[in-house]
Amino acid sequence: MTQPRCSIALFATGGTIAMAPADGGGVAPSHGADALAAGLSLDAGITLERHDLFAKPSASISLADVQTIADAIEAAFARGVEGAVVTHGTDTLEETAFALALMLGRGKPVVVTGAMRSAGEAGADGPANLTAAIRVAANPAANGQGPLVLFGQEVHAAHLVRKVHSSRPHAFSSEPFGPIGHVVEGHLRFELATIADLPRLSVGGAVPAVPVVQAGLDLEPETIGAFANAPIGALVIAGVGGGHVSARAVEAIDRLNDRIPVIIASRVGMGATLRESYAYDGSEIDLARRGILNAGRWRPAQARLLTQLALSQGQDRAALADLLAF
Ligand code: ASP
Repeated sequence: MTQPRCSIALFATGGTIAMAPADGGGVAPSHGADALAAGLSLDAGITLERHDLFAKPSASISLADVQTIADAIEAAFARGVEGAVVTHGTDTLEETAFALALMLGRGKPVVVTGAMRSAGEAGADGPANLTAAIRVAANPAANGQGPLVLFGQEVHAAHLVRKVHSSRPHAFSSEPFGPIGHVVEGHLRFELATIADLPRLSVGGAVPAVPVVQAGLDLEPETIGAFANAPIGALVIAGVGGGHVSARAVEAIDRLNDRIPVIIASRVGMGATLRESYAYDGSEIDLARRGILNAGRWRPAQARLLTQLALSQGQDRAALADLLAF
């Protein structure tokens, strides 16, 4: 009997890749890991453990669920599995990949993938994505890169990638950087390496609610004031441009920041918030003077996850500021 060269653990969590037509129209979670793996032709020497963790649409995956995924991956690695693949809904895939990067750091390969088209649809992309993800997870070149996202034959770093289209199959991008590798004719080619260090965090206790409010033309003070007594742990504002809000919202933000941390991020989607460019009322300098925390390189959804994890560990405002400045 030939000795398996590489053992990979597949963790199914739901998403379109695992969905089938539901009564009354549309698709809903249906397949587990066995069905996902059925019919795949794996490279010689790869053995695949199959695990069903959940069968959820990805909007319902919680940070506690992501911790469950991270713990299951760590347990698999501890018993000698060489790589892990997580199938996941695409809607929040970038957030789970980012949270896994915070929880697991860099170690053996972890590859998150999904599909834009369910199994029954013409041109279903799940089998191709899953096959390529398993190849990446089985490739020693993926060691030490931190969790990766495989989509459309592209390999993305977990902290850079995001969903950029709601329906086309090529739905993920790491702009303004780029994918760090590709799977071509079945072979993994890395063009870049992820050298960015990320903080290490895990779920401590209860995860507090941290809403994200999007600013725009003339953010109203009432929008911020609505959170004055709300049971939330912090508020992230996806500010305009480099992290700005209307002058008339500043006082309400200041007041809320006396009670809970308020974090200013940017709604732009690419590029960090500014720190020392603009000095008018509602600018990043004005907000910093008032003690509002700056999200730096983290997108609003990432700032939210970092804040939720930090608060679940009981970290204070100063520690949170350091994390956001990481
Ligand atoms: N709504 C699905 C989900 O995120 C979309 C997908 O998987 O592509 O679960």
